[in-house]
Amino acid sequence: MAYKIPKAEVLAEAIQAALKEQSTVVSQNRFAILVNDQLKKVDPEYTASEERIRRVALYRKLAKVEIQTREAEERSRNVRCPVCGSKTKRIQNETVYGGKVTLGYKCRACGYWTGMRRRVPTRYIFYGDGAKFPVPDESVRPLDQTPS
Ligand SMILES: [Zn+2]
Repeated sequence: MAYKIPKAEVLAEAIQAALKEQSTVVSQNRFAILVNDQLKKVDPEYTASEERIRRVALYRKLAKVEIQTREAEERSRNVRCPVCGSKTKRIQNETVYGGKVTLGYKCRACGYWTGMRRRVPTRYIFYGDGAKFPVPDESVRPLDQTPS
């Protein structure tokens, strides 16, 4: 067999090395290429899949991720986070009658959330320590658009 599966520690080091060289990576495919380049410096037969790299990077908090999604037809269920594999938490709102209504689910590990219509991740942008993680829309509004 021409490839070997690196241990999580080895993969984590390759992820850190890749993000040191390029702190913002605009797709999961690109991220996998960069990380695999680093892995091959350790052992030319090391290979890691896009999904494993994403999960290790997020689970170990080596990177932050911006998740672009599309809304699916089906309803959300309280399952593990599709992005990092952590447990998701129910987002609830209290009703005027004292009951609770579920609005969706949120992952506390990576920031993924979904409403009652399932949001399916379609694209990931990864940010290393050296990158500026995008701030919420409100605070990036250009000054000239601020009402005076
Ligand atoms: Zn998650």
